[in-house]
Amino acid sequence: MIREIVIYGIAILRIKGKRVEIFDAKLRALADDMLETMYQANGIGLAAQQVGEALQLTVIDVSQAEARPSQMWIDGAEVDPKEHMPLVLVNPEIQFGQEIEIGSEGCLSFPDIIGDIPRAAKISVKARDLDGKSIEFEAAGLLARAVQHEADHLNGILFIDRMSSALKSSLAGKLKRLASESG
Ligand SMILES: [Zn+2]
Repeated sequence: MIREIVIYGIAILRIKGKRVEIFDAKLRALADDMLETMYQANGIGLAAQQVGEALQLTVIDVSQAEARPSQMWIDGAEVDPKEHMPLVLVNPEIQFGQEIEIGSEGCLSFPDIIGDIPRAAKISVKARDLDGKSIEFEAAGLLARAVQHEADHLNGILFIDRMSSALKSSLAGKLKRLASESG
């Protein structure tokens, strides 16, 4: 089922998601809804808060982003990220590499807003899948960026929080308008 995407200005986007303890059909149905909603909106990631649920759950699929490559490693061996999409990450934990990369990002909760955001170029991710099984991988490129963006959502952090103050003030009018329309 396609859900309505929560737009900036609604309080749930600022709420830290609860850890998932029960891996049941309800969780799977929510993840299915999130994937359907993300694909319909042509997004590459969606967090539970964006469909109105404050939970540590996010879905990601970078396989259609041909112009922005991703790299992925499992047990130290490089794999084809496309073969591991979509990713459903429950209770994700990230370790950040030291190198920082600046790249452009948008967000389905911020229609028509794009900005350069600094992120770790490479990350290690530990999470659970929908069966509660452990998932571990390393990521770089767009996948690393997407995971960091979504993991931020799960903690109530938005990409505007990571923009330079100059960029954020140049977007102030647009942000104010968004918040007043959604609220
Ligand atoms: Zn987002």
